[in-house]
Amino acid sequence: MNRIVIVGAGQAAGWAVHTLRQQGFTGEIHVVSNEDHVFYERPPLSKQVLSQEAGIESLNLFSTDQVNDFSVIWHKPDHATQIDKAAKNVHLQSGKILPYDKLLIATGSRARIPVPEWAKMQHVYTMRDIQDCQKLADKLKTAQHIAVIGGGWIGLEIAATACKQGKNVEIFEYGSRLCARSVSPEVSDFLKKLHEDAGTQIHLNATALSLVEQADFSVNVVNGQEPAKQFDCVVVGAGAEIAKELATLAELDVKDGIVVNAFGQSSDADIYAAGDVAIHPVLGYCIQSWANAQNQAIAAAKSMMGEHTAYEDIPWLWSDQYQSNIQILGTYQPEKTQQIVIRKTNETQISFFYLDEQSQLINMIAVNDSKVVKLAKRWIASSKVLEVGQLQDPDFNLMKLK
Ligand SMILES: Cc1cc2nc3c(=O)[nH]c(=O)nc-3n(C[C@H](O)[C@H](O)[C@H](O)COP(=O)(O)OP(=O)(O)OC[C@H]3O[C@@H](n4cnc5c(N)ncnc54)[C@H](O)[C@@H]3O)c2cc1C
Repeated sequence: MNRIVIVGAGQAAGWAVHTLRQQGFTGEIHVVSNEDHVFYERPPLSKQVLSQEAGIESLNLFSTDQVNDFSVIWHKPDHATQIDKAAKNVHLQSGKILPYDKLLIATGSRARIPVPEWAKMQHVYTMRDIQDCQKLADKLKTAQHIAVIGGGWIGLEIAATACKQGKNVEIFEYGSRLCARSVSPEVSDFLKKLHEDAGTQIHLNATALSLVEQADFSVNVVNGQEPAKQFDCVVVGAGAEIAKELATLAELDVKDGIVVNAFGQSSDADIYAAGDVAIHPVLGYCIQSWANAQNQAIAAAKSMMGEHTAYEDIPWLWSDQYQSNIQILGTYQPEKTQQIVIRKTNETQISFFYLDEQSQLINMIAVNDSKVVKLAKRWIASSKVLEVGQLQDPDFNLMKLK
């Protein structure tokens, strides 16, 4: 194997390159990226970088020396347009054709804009990359009234960041509760209270929203029959679209993302996929999280090098909103949940545990309690049977259940 081509230069791509070199791959690594940046992570975009507490250099996955040591051959900014599986090469918009022995698709996802016209409006923003973040951060210097469309994780983080800067923020959510796809109603209520206590207005069931640009550059948000409300800008955080088109065009097995086995291999043995674009091999759907992108890519890179370590990680992700660090372990599975246990240790520390019929943990959300998340990872891995009384008793030291 002499040449590996990677499409994308985000979390998954960066960790794949790191792993390949660590595993002793000495051949050529070509990285194609349509962004003009070197491997960077996205979580701080909606948090410290948007609030300008941190600069864009804080996003770098690796130091300049490390990146130089990787000896990557960059094709950026350039766009991979087509994969020719039979000839084993990738076509780029620039006209280049890159042959590969192994190919990794790490194209991630992009911000979804539910109404195409919104994308053309000058003061409608999304948050996916550095450019989006810089544009919104600039706007927040002067904007005072901010509408956030979408009460999912990214929308809520942007709302929290803007609110902390003293902005008047209103959230418009299509569904009947916040983060409904990933958390239970109790957690949605917790999130709603967190934001309302900070002064944010939340409009649930906002199913008929329209946006109208005004002559003074503001944007009117019309929520059903309610009178129009005027905002200086609108941020759309309405989920992500998986960037799977290269794989679809190449007729790989594709569902909502690229179907891969536990080693990151797609339906073509020399084409791998990892990160947001790839389906989680155990869960059967795409997981959009930092840890998933990193660890699935590491497994795929090792597999390319002949070390087959199955990627079966339990999903874990976090979000920071105001003073709350919220960590989610496992997935919300109402059909399997038999018991819900809420443990409130103090005003700012609360955990929600979801147990199945064997009293084993399947999902948890911990607010400001990373120690319990570490412990819970072990409980899930070892299928530990838990006692409700111990979990919900704030005076019981959970570390005893190591
Ligand atoms: C604002 C924000 C905040 C987040 N916060 C958190 C958090 O707090 N916790 C958490 O766990 N997760 C968080 N996430 C999710 C996490 O960042 C993603 O799951 C992760 O970035 C996925 O990595 P990836 O490498 O799969 O894709 P990406 O990081 O999206 O990288 C894919 C790259 O491929 C490029 N690309 C796509 N198609 C092509 C093509 N055809 N040719 C060339 N290049 C192409 C894209 O432009 C992009 O640069 C956040 C995401 C965002 C956007």
